[in-house]
Amino acid sequence: MDAITETVAATPLLEVRACRQSYHKDSSADLLVLDDVNVSIANGEIVGLLGRSGSGKSTLLRIVAGLLTPTAGDVRWQGKPVSGPTQGVAMVFQSFALFPWLTVQENVELGLEALGTPRAERDKRAEEAIDLIGLGGYESAYPKELSGGMRQRVGLARALVVHPDLLLMDEPFSALDVLTAETLRTDLIDLWMEGKLPIKSVLMVTHNIEEAVLMCDRILVFSSNPGRVASELRVPFAHPRNRHDAAFRQLVDDIYALMTRRATVIPKATTAATPAVDVTFATPLQPVSTNLLAGLIETMAGHPYDGRADLPALAAALQLEADELLPMGEALQLLGFGVLEEGDLKLSEPGKEFAHADTDGRKALFAAALRAHVPLVAAIRRTLDERWNHRASAVRFRDELEDHMSPDYAEDTLRTAIAWGRYAELYTYDEEAAQFSLEDIEAAA
Ligand code: ADP
Ligand code: MG
Repeated sequence: MDAITETVAATPLLEVRACRQSYHKDSSADLLVLDDVNVSIANGEIVGLLGRSGSGKSTLLRIVAGLLTPTAGDVRWQGKPVSGPTQGVAMVFQSFALFPWLTVQENVELGLEALGTPRAERDKRAEEAIDLIGLGGYESAYPKELSGGMRQRVGLARALVVHPDLLLMDEPFSALDVLTAETLRTDLIDLWMEGKLPIKSVLMVTHNIEEAVLMCDRILVFSSNPGRVASELRVPFAHPRNRHDAAFRQLVDDIYALMTRRATVIPKATTAATPAVDVTFATPLQPVSTNLLAGLIETMAGHPYDGRADLPALAAALQLEADELLPMGEALQLLGFGVLEEGDLKLSEPGKEFAHADTDGRKALFAAALRAHVPLVAAIRRTLDERWNHRASAVRFRDELEDHMSPDYAEDTLRTAIAWGRYAELYTYDEEAAQFSLEDIEAAA
């Protein structure tokens, strides 16, 4: 190999350098979502981007696909700067993003139409992609006639039909049930190992630790607020991988520890300029029910944990997916009922007190925790106390949240504030009027 071809061979397929992304918010400060992100994807690898909800993973994928120009930094595709949608990159979405009025065949062909591929070639390529991904026989079905798993197969076929060098997948399995998701994961890895996928590399976003360890050659662990690559791990196991292997479990444990180590830094929204409002107001709340939280606290307080548990062991005991337990642990931490450290969850003194309190005692402890640690709930209650009729519409809080997060997160956050505040009897909420009030609430709360 001479010097020039050697350089070409060593050029990564994709390179993101010193990338920063902030979203402009007219009513207040800019929201810094990505800061100094560096990612490089080589030929022939599956890379996982593992991070929490809201850490900027989808934003980074949009930048990689050339759909969004970063505020700063640059993206290189096969050594050349990217400007505009990248040829050679295709994306699979969590929500499938199919057109309901088009058949499977038509949905799959869409990608090729955009490229101006001639009709006959389009038909042939679509047929190949459809057969490859196990959709043979469903060509003329409409999305609504298909199960979730089959719909995501259509999403995959539509991405593969263009024979992209880089396949981007944004939480592609998280809208599917556990069994369907696992089938799709293993099908995809089998095709990849057999060299049947018409792609060179994969960059997949996930918040599921086990999924990343099951599928990826390399995992980039993403931090939140702002998003950046906090650590990078190689996954040294050959396919097919076994979730029950000791080494597999150990790696999952290690990643848990990495992620909870950072979680001990209380998350706060980072803004690019001086915030106009209390930024912690806009901390996204994970929708965890008070029932589940109470159950978790009770379990933790009892035998054999006695106040401290190893997260993966606790997840197994509660029959939860690893990534379902983490938000619960974080909610406990946010409320001051627990502490996450090094892959363990520990109950705090208020947490232990909660475990041993009766129903009213628990509500009072929860109310105190909300007022002390959840500024959104405290603000709702303060507003109700101050207003002459002790009522307030949810719209104003939703609007304010939407200045700091996407409408989905704003909705989840608001729903969680409603559920938690109701349980704590800090306020009531009238669904029909979309209104908070202090009706039937004791003033002394
Ligand atoms: P993830 O995919 O990791 O859940 P996202 O990239 O979707 O994270 O979002 C990261 C943060 O950026 C969130 O706080 C979200 O509310 C915000 N955000 C995403 N897209 C936009 C946008 N178009 N305008 C304003 N804020 C956005
Ligand atoms: Mg996302």
